[in-house]
Amino acid sequence: KLSARGISLWFGEKQVLKDIDIGFQDRQITALIGPSGCGKSTLLRCFNRMHDRTPGVRLSGHCYLDQEDIYAKSVFVAAIRRRIGMVFQKANPFAKSIYENINYGLKINGVQENQRHELIVQSLKESFLWDEVQHELHKPAAQLSGGQQQRLCIARAVALRPEVILMDEPCSALDPLSTAKIEELIKNLKADYTIVIVTHNMQQAQRIADNTVFMYMGRIIEADTTPNIFNNATNELTSSYVHGKF
Ligand code: ATP
Ligand code: MG
Repeated sequence: KLSARGISLWFGEKQVLKDIDIGFQDRQITALIGPSGCGKSTLLRCFNRMHDRTPGVRLSGHCYLDQEDIYAKSVFVAAIRRRIGMVFQKANPFAKSIYENINYGLKINGVQENQRHELIVQSLKESFLWDEVQHELHKPAAQLSGGQQQRLCIARAVALRPEVILMDEPCSALDPLSTAKIEELIKNLKADYTIVIVTHNMQQAQRIADNTVFMYMGRIIEADTTPNIFNNATNELTSSYVHGKF
C-alpha cells in the first residue's frame, strides 16, 4: 500500500536515512521502533512530503502510495496529505471549537456542507470521543484534556477518509488510561486503513502491531511480524533493543 524504495535523506551534510526499503500493508498496523535519533520521524515525514519546504534537506529514492510516486511532479502535496493523514506526538488541535477542528479540513478539501456534519459525527465516534463531547461540540478544543485532544486530532485525520494514517508517538504524552483508549481505537481503525505508528513503548508495539520495523542509525535493521521481532529476531541489534539493552 505504502512503500519507500531506496530512500536516503540528508540534513545538510548529515545523512539521517540510509537506503531505506520498506513496505506497509493495507489493513495492518506496523510499529516503527528504534533508539532516539535513528530517523523514525524523519522517515514518516517523507511519506507526506513534510521535508519539501525544509531548507538544506536532500532526498533521494522514491515513496509510493499504491503505484503512485508521491514525489512525482504531477502529484499535489494537498492531495497526498488528504490520502495520508498524520497524527503527532503532541496533540495540535487548531484554536477553534471541537466541531470546527474537523469541519475546517473537510471544508478546505471541498466536502459539501450537507455531508460534513455526518462525517464529523462519524469520525468523533470512530475516535471514541463522541460520548464525551456530543453536548459541547462548540467548546474550544483547547479546553479538552490531553488525551481528548489527541483523540480529536485522530478524528480530524480520520474525517478526511485517508488511506493511510501515520502516527508519531501519539501516546507518549498521555496517561495509561488515555493510552489504552487510543490503542483500542487504533485497533478498530485497522479494518479500514494502513497504519504506521512510531513508538518507544515496546509493550504498546506488542499489543497493537501486526508488524514491527526496527531502525538503527538511519537504517532498517529488521522488519518482520511483531512476534518474530520480539521473540525470534534474526539480528542481534534488534533483540538487544527490544529487550531493553540500549
Ligand atoms: P526520537 O525517537 O527521539 O523522536 P527519531 O528516531 O524520530 O528520534 P528523527 O527525529 O527522525 O529521529 O531524527 C533523526 C536525525 O536527524 C537526528 O540525528 C536529528 O538530530 C536529525 N534531524 C531531525 N530533524 C532535523 C532538522 N530539521 N535539521 C537537522 N537535523 C535534523
Ligand atoms: Mg521522532
